[in-house]
Amino acid sequence: MTHAAPVVTRSEEETAGIAASLASRLPPGAVVLLTGDLGAGKTAFVRGMASGLGIEPEEVSSPTFTLVQEYRGPRATLYHVDLYRVEGGEADDLGLEELASGGGVVAIEWAEKLPRPLPGALRVTIADLGGDRREIRITEDSGADPASYSDR
Ligand code: ADP
Ligand code: MG
Repeated sequence: MTHAAPVVTRSEEETAGIAASLASRLPPGAVVLLTGDLGAGKTAFVRGMASGLGIEPEEVSSPTFTLVQEYRGPRATLYHVDLYRVEGGEADDLGLEELASGGGVVAIEWAEKLPRPLPGALRVTIADLGGDRREIRITEDSGADPASYSDR
């Protein structure tokens, strides 16, 4: 399920395609942690995941004040979480583990703000290589990198 080597995409559509193919293979309760600077393509990736789950990708936006958006699809419910505005520790109270245990697919932008690892999560790291080029790395999150969790 994971890409051993990073993939370089050259358009938003190409990124969405990778995300859609990943999402269509995810088991119920899967958690995808997205990391990357502002404008890297995290929301674009989540839009692609939506389409892979049979959800209208246009429904997925970057809400200003909603931390968790729920999209019901024919195969699974997608929970889109954006922690951009969350202060250290606040992510604790969002019940993210409970969302996953309900059998939906959970995609979390700014996952580095999570106070602790979520068991079994996949990590998607997107880097802007300039222009429309993005490097996408999909790995299993070991939770081993202390710098990637906010209060450890
Ligand atoms: P983030 O959620 O990480 O802040 P967004 O997904 O909102 O980023 O924005 C990514 C921006 O980069 C969009 O304007 C998108 O069209 C553009 N873009 C250009 N090339 C790519 C690519 N290869 N993959 C994803 N997005 C890209
Ligand atoms: Mg975003």
